[in-house]
Amino acid sequence: MNPLLEEQYKRLGISKEVLDFGAAVEESLKERFAGIDACAEYNQMKVVAAMQKNRVSAECFQTATGYGYNDLGRDVLERVYADCFCAEDALVRPQITCGTHALALALLSNLRPGDELLSPVGKPYDTLEEVIGIRPSKGSLAEYGITYAQADLLPDGSFDYESIAKAINERTKLATIQRSKGYAPRKTLSVERIGELIRFLKKQKPDIICMVDNCYGEFVETREPLEAGADLIVGSLIKNPGGGLAPIGGYLAGKKEYVENAAYRLTSPGLGKEVGASLGVIGSFYQGLFLAPTVVSGALKGAVFAANIYERLGFSVIPDSTESRHDIVQAVTFGSREAMTAFCEGIQAAAPVDSHVTPEPWAMPGYDCDVIMAAGAFVQGSSIELSADGPVKPPYTVYFQGGLTWYHAKLGILSSLQKLYERNLVKIDKV
Ligand SMILES: *Cc1c(COP(=O)(O)O)cnc(C)c1O
Repeated sequence: MNPLLEEQYKRLGISKEVLDFGAAVEESLKERFAGIDACAEYNQMKVVAAMQKNRVSAECFQTATGYGYNDLGRDVLERVYADCFCAEDALVRPQITCGTHALALALLSNLRPGDELLSPVGKPYDTLEEVIGIRPSKGSLAEYGITYAQADLLPDGSFDYESIAKAINERTKLATIQRSKGYAPRKTLSVERIGELIRFLKKQKPDIICMVDNCYGEFVETREPLEAGADLIVGSLIKNPGGGLAPIGGYLAGKKEYVENAAYRLTSPGLGKEVGASLGVIGSFYQGLFLAPTVVSGALKGAVFAANIYERLGFSVIPDSTESRHDIVQAVTFGSREAMTAFCEGIQAAAPVDSHVTPEPWAMPGYDCDVIMAAGAFVQGSSIELSADGPVKPPYTVYFQGGLTWYHAKLGILSSLQKLYERNLVKIDKV
């Protein structure tokens, strides 16, 4: 290795042993990385084409205030999103505060009292338990008389078609399909598998609304779920599509009717998409979307690198070192609180912001146990930036994601390994 580069890593606390181990792993990943680059190139062209088609111009970046009638930047951006994701319409707003809010909006606006929501892919993301009312909460779907049914995946991760068919009834209105694994130890769904599931659901009940929780999935593949038959996709702008630049926001994209329902819920009946000023953030939404394909590719390389490093060291990793990728999340199971904490401390120590603080487990709203989070991000809580988190309970699985550039993601992983190495929690001489 270039001695000057080695010196830089040393300055950041990375030892020669850890660096060499990382270099050997990286060397073995050339082909994987070329595949990730090819996908990013395709998606970059897709984004540029959508911007050109909709005549994005300097006026689009102007600040709108107050009611936001005729907010050109907002309206054009929603058409750009719609084209990127092959949707009839989209709602992309800073007034959508986070991913959970975007999902709650989609559900509360498209379901009515007496309807039933179905998850055909097992337990949904933790924060949705309160939205649905699995864990009681004010304003949940349950409080409005909307019931919930769930069909778990089979032990091998495949869809339990028999249970799904049994769960569907005359009240089943909407199926929520979570693409990413979230905090569950299952596999992330590829767009192709989501398509298979949707075909089955529509065969059972042609008018069922198929919604995909697209968080962490955007731009990981060349196709998105709407191209595989979904009616609505939902996500957060402080994850993939915000490209690290969006300081807040969420989106919905899909069939016009379902997006419109959500708009009337977000603002007010009678107002819908017509109000909601984009304030001063709209420029960052455009620029973030423009950068998103390459940002996602950096994060993906980081995830693949992490899987290969930690699998070689004997830890269980999901996805494994060779599997194809359908989101940017990498789960590593450490089996002990010490190793889990060391990993998170290493990620934190590699951050450009708050590298001097030590992450501590805490009781986060929406979760049922302590959560540890390592994040030194420019945008608070942004998980397209280098971050790691996980519920502090056996089997002590950490979910690692993000990195605005591949080099930074790489530093994060090396820094995590350094902490484990220094505390004698791993042996790295067995390359
Ligand atoms: C992050 C995430 C959410 C919730 O998003 P927040 O922005 O944290 O509220 C929902 N589903 C999945 C799969 C996620 O990854």
